[in-house]
Amino acid sequence: MDERSGSEVIETLRSRGLRMTPQRLAIVSEVMRTQGHISPTTLARRVQGEMPGVNPSTVYRTLALLEQIGVLSHAHLEGGAEYHRAEEAGHVHLTCSRCGGEDALSLAEAARLQELIEQSHGFHPDFTHFAISGLCADCWA
Ligand SMILES: [Zn+2]
Ligand SMILES: [Zn+2]
Ligand SMILES: [Zn+2]
Repeated sequence: MDERSGSEVIETLRSRGLRMTPQRLAIVSEVMRTQGHISPTTLARRVQGEMPGVNPSTVYRTLALLEQIGVLSHAHLEGGAEYHRAEEAGHVHLTCSRCGGEDALSLAEAARLQELIEQSHGFHPDFTHFAISGLCADCWA
């Protein structure tokens, strides 16, 4: 899947009739710079650092819009929903309920469990949407 640059994303939003305010521009460029996943509150804090007065609800709305056009996708982690670039979202999150540590499982590693569920329940799981909660090796020890 191709990596879309911030300016292409901004063009797409504009072509959908969205007015690109300085706040929205700052939100889009910050989220496109982010590696891995980011929570809406962390994103809001970073954008507010550059541009005080950005309303958190603008951050939420912009994230939802970026998801609608396929740029981002969300996953539910221990602390709530976080956003990835859509092309980086193909993994299963493992979150430690004690220390908050995170790990990731590839979809290839999850394939056997996926087959098992499909064969015995006819259910097609999306492991990328919710994290698997549990204890990390350190907390287990
Ligand atoms: Zn992730
Ligand atoms: Zn969800
Ligand atoms: Zn832990």
